[in-house]
Formats: sequence, C-alpha cells, structure tokens
Amino acid sequence: MKSASFVSSADLSGLLVRLAEKAELWVPAPEDTAPHRVTFRPFQAGMDLDGHRLPVTSPKKLLFPQGEELLRFRTGRSSCEAAMETVLLEESADPRPTILFGCRPCDARGFVVFDRAFLQGPFVDPYYKARRDKNLVVSMVCPGPDAACFCGAVGSHPADTQGSDVQMIPVSEGYVLHALTEKGQELVRHLENAPSQAQEQEARHVWESARRSVENVVSLMDSAPHFRKRFADAAFWRLHTERCFSCGVCTFLCPTCYCFTITDETDGVQGQRLRSWDACMFHHFTQEASGHNPRPTKAERFRNRVGHKFSYFAEKHGHPACCGCGRCLRHCPVAMDIRAIVRAMGETEDVHA
Ligand code: SF4
Ligand code: SF4
Repeated sequence: MKSASFVSSADLSGLLVRLAEKAELWVPAPEDTAPHRVTFRPFQAGMDLDGHRLPVTSPKKLLFPQGEELLRFRTGRSSCEAAMETVLLEESADPRPTILFGCRPCDARGFVVFDRAFLQGPFVDPYYKARRDKNLVVSMVCPGPDAACFCGAVGSHPADTQGSDVQMIPVSEGYVLHALTEKGQELVRHLENAPSQAQEQEARHVWESARRSVENVVSLMDSAPHFRKRFADAAFWRLHTERCFSCGVCTFLCPTCYCFTITDETDGVQGQRLRSWDACMFHHFTQEASGHNPRPTKAERFRNRVGHKFSYFAEKHGHPACCGCGRCLRHCPVAMDIRAIVRAMGETEDVHA
C-alpha cells in the first residue's frame, strides 16, 4: 500500500478543504482578533496555517474536552418495588471524526501519555477511546525549537513520530507525507502524487537534521531517583515554589496533564453528569469531604506535579509524562521552570542552605 506522498505548497489549501469535508479539521492558526496568538482552530477555507509558532493551547481538547457531558439521567421510583430508586441513563452521542493537522511532534507525543492513562491501564475510558478511534493526527517535523523547548531532554526529538498517524516533512516546494499507521495510510493512499527520489532524499535530510538538533541536551529521563531523594526535603520544595500562586495555567496548557473532576447537575428528577478539567495545582483538588487536605501547600502540590511526571509515571511507563513542549515555562505568569527544578533535584549541593 502507498505510504508516502508529496503535496506542493500551492496544493495544501485544496487538501485541507477536502479533508474538512470528511472530518472536523483542526489546524494551528493565528486567532482572528489576536493574530500574535496561534491556537488550534477548526479549519475554514482561506485560513492560513501557522506551523512556525507553537500554539499557546495544546490540542488535548480534541480528545479530552475542557468540559463534556458524559451522560444524562432521570431518577424515579420503580412501580413494582416501592423502595427502589431507578436511574435511567442516556449515553452521550457518538463523537464526530476529527483530524488534527500540522501539530508539532511534541503535541502528537502528548497523546501517547493520554493513551497510557486512558486506554492502557486497568480501565479504558470510553469517552476518550471513542474520540481517539475517530481521530487522525498529522504532525509536521518541527521547524526549530525555541529557548523553552526541551523535547530532547525527555526522550524525544523534533522529528519524533510517536503519537502521529502521518508525518509531514517540509521540503523545498511543499511537503513529503509519510504514513505511520493504517489510519495514516488511508489518508496518504488518496493523495495523487508520490514523492520523487530527490524529494525523498531532501525529506530524509530534513528529518535527520531535526532529530540530531537536540542530541546534546541534558537528559531528564532518569530523574526518579533524584525525586525520591528530594521528596522529604521540604526546604527544597518551598524554595523552588515560593513564586507559584497556584493559578493552574501550567496544567491547563499542558498536553500531558489529564486531571479531571466530575459533577452532576440536576434539575428535578433529571440531570447531566459532566466532566471538566481540574488541576493538581489547585488547593481544592485534593480537599477531602472531612476538610482534610493531603496537599495543603503549593510546595506539596508542585512536588506532586513533578513527581507524577518525572517519577511515578516515568517509572511505570518508561518515559516521563512530559513531552518537553515548554508551554508551562512560556506561559507561567511568574516564570516557573519545571525543567530547572527537575535538574536541581539532582544537584549535590544543598541549594537551600
Ligand atoms: S502556571 Fe506558574 S504560577 Fe501558575 S500554577 Fe503553574 S507554576 Fe504556579
Ligand atoms: S510539563 Fe510543561 S513542558 Fe512538559 S508537557 Fe507539560 S506543558 Fe509541556
């Protein structure tokens, strides 16, 4: 089966129009009212893609919406057993097929973290699975990391293919597309032009230079022992988190954070069960009904965020729950830098003395 294709720059918008007829198509594009901000947006004909700036928001909302209805319910007394309460459930509708087009490899890799949590644990999340099954990810080799990016430190690189169905590689006059999965082959098979030998050669060169561009970064892959060593070092966590004011921006923008809360909204005998994003950086996230809070301070909450990403998850799955996109550094209002804190965990000197 055909597994590579070439799309010229001039033909790209035509391809997007065709894809938008088949599925809900999301692309990185400047916002109409704030063109300095790129976000993932539903495609409309005439829209310009921006593959050069990392979108402010991550694409996780496609598969894990910020708020979603899980089901509707209606309660009432059973007619035959007077003491029994009946609950009638109505599942939410099937999600529409979606295509995420032109994201960076770090964002595609974010879905690998989601897959481990929502598909590969003891329980499968049916809402995430339904969306994931109907989603196709077309990533593009990264045009170049900025000062906040650190994919190379977390076992990835700017040409990573993990989490993608198709990878686009920019070449002189357009893009070479490589199918990576069966779903990806389905897309590539319908494209007309195969890449020439020269285009494939150029694509290989672009891919290899992107991969090698982060070869010398300091790795954060083996941070779990450092985290365990620092766990009880309250002064270390206080020092490194004193600026944080628990706004949760880092977690909401993060493509690998998946904490949520569930609430029921009722109106008489009927209602909806809703799922919404939540964040371990919020004080009330671990607040128990008794009033006890096992993580009452921001130092304990930030320690949990670091520990989850670089120790608990990493030891269980073999890689951190972080794709190095750098959003949490770029957009934190007080410039907290998670990679500097993870590095500091391994420093031998007593940093807080
Ligand atoms: S974005 Fe910065 S200030 Fe806000 S919770 Fe995260 S680390 Fe703290
Ligand atoms: S922790 Fe920060 S760098 Fe890592 S995936 Fe989340 S937002 Fe990106």
